[in-house]
Amino acid sequence: MTKGLLVFDDDAAIGRLVVRVAKMAGLDAVSVSDAAAFEQQMQYETPNIVMLDLQLGATDGIEQLRGLAADRFTGSLVLMSGFDARVLNTANRVAQSLGLKIEATLEKPVQVAELEQLFSRLKAAETIPSTDRLLEAIRDGELSLDFQPVVTRHPRTLKKLEALVRWDHPALGRLPPSDFLPGAEADTPVIDTVTEWVIGAFVEAYLILAELGIRVPIGVNISSQNLHDIALPDRFEQRLREAGIPAEHLCLEVTESAAFSDPLRAMDILTRIRLKGMQLSIDDFGIGYSSLKMLRQTPFSEMKIDQSFVHDMATSRDSRAIVKSIVDLAANMEMQSVAEGIETEETAALLESMNVGMLQGYLFARPMPVEAVPAWLAIWMREDSQEPRGRRPGAGSDAEAGPIEGSGLASEPSHLSPPQRQAMQLLAQGHALKEIARQLGVGIGAVKVRLSQAYMALGARNGAEAVARLGL
Ligand code: C2E
Ligand code: MG
Ligand code: MG
Repeated sequence: MTKGLLVFDDDAAIGRLVVRVAKMAGLDAVSVSDAAAFEQQMQYETPNIVMLDLQLGATDGIEQLRGLAADRFTGSLVLMSGFDARVLNTANRVAQSLGLKIEATLEKPVQVAELEQLFSRLKAAETIPSTDRLLEAIRDGELSLDFQPVVTRHPRTLKKLEALVRWDHPALGRLPPSDFLPGAEADTPVIDTVTEWVIGAFVEAYLILAELGIRVPIGVNISSQNLHDIALPDRFEQRLREAGIPAEHLCLEVTESAAFSDPLRAMDILTRIRLKGMQLSIDDFGIGYSSLKMLRQTPFSEMKIDQSFVHDMATSRDSRAIVKSIVDLAANMEMQSVAEGIETEETAALLESMNVGMLQGYLFARPMPVEAVPAWLAIWMREDSQEPRGRRPGAGSDAEAGPIEGSGLASEPSHLSPPQRQAMQLLAQGHALKEIARQLGVGIGAVKVRLSQAYMALGARNGAEAVARLGL
């Protein structure tokens, strides 16, 4: 795909205006005003952004969306309309259900300032690396998993972790999944490769935590695009068996926002995943396309309420009602409910009063590298033992969290063993884990174990805190 923007508006003057603003933002842009020219331009040079008016004279935006989906357009779309916001919302939903990526919707008359803002964002996004570069990144070890705790209510104890992928790009810095997964999901072999890597990294992290006495289930996100491969459940089962991980300690999270391209096959795969003992979670529930019928047919064991409802709970009665209904629905269907995106104690308390099963969010912890998890847990439990309200996590009240209490929380640096100190010194010098492993002549897993032991001994939540405490 080449870079650039293609504007399709039957009003040529608007097209020209949009192109002028786009060019000022540094984007290559052209505009067309009829369907034949649009098609010709798409074939000549597929842009990575299409801006589409919904009223197009002889044709209309929805028809064009269908055409773009049929041509498997993988770029971003901006929809414009002079009708009211509801038309734009409907078109947005249609586009999403067709698997198209909507970047923005604009109400007409469009404001130049709004266009400028949009185009500078799109210009920044142009630097997102290609899927070929992503495959290279997987080979070169540039992807990593962070882990975010999920806690129970009353008492709040660590129940599980969710694995979230990140890309440490040498030039662009740390990229969140939203920067590179949409591109990968548009290319099945690429998203399959990502998922295989994620499963491998999950196994490695699980074993590191197990060595440190923490044995909890881990949620791993998979894409609905991965559900084309009938052999997937067998492959995952084999990975678990080889590593000695109980099947129920892998919980696969599938978002419900994307429609399954082959629902029957997807159901087959999901059912076999459950039959093999793995857990199955429906992620971002409430904003997608799953029907209640599908919910009944698919053996999900958990429902994760979409963050948008959780964020709005404190201020919106509607959101509270929706969350309560989802929690009750989950309970009636004998499924676990999880609320994610919890940032305030107020929201957490509200959710607990609704009997939500599990809680996740920045209030408890941000996603962190595996080596930081043991120290986070130890500190969290220690804080709790000083916190009599019982609203904080219950120290050691959930046996599943492992014998972390015995780890000792000395803040005396001399408690570090020589291997732990060596690893810390290299970390302080700014070396990546791969380089530390190479210099010490051990695997990356061993480095992570040594670092997490060092963080725990120092009572530090992460590498930076540990380095500071050591005065390195
Ligand atoms: P998700 O599975 O719904 O994950 C939750 C997202 O919410 C994560 O974003 C997490 O960092 C963020 N989050 C957690 N607590 C809070 C909070 O309190 N406030 C706010 N504002 N955000 C919070 P992240 O890591 O950027 O991941 C985004 C999405 O990318 C995930 O949504 C998931 O759908 C997808 N994803 C992440 N890792 C993978 C992966 O390994 N494979 C696949 N296929 N998808 C992944
Ligand atoms: Mg998830
Ligand atoms: Mg989610």
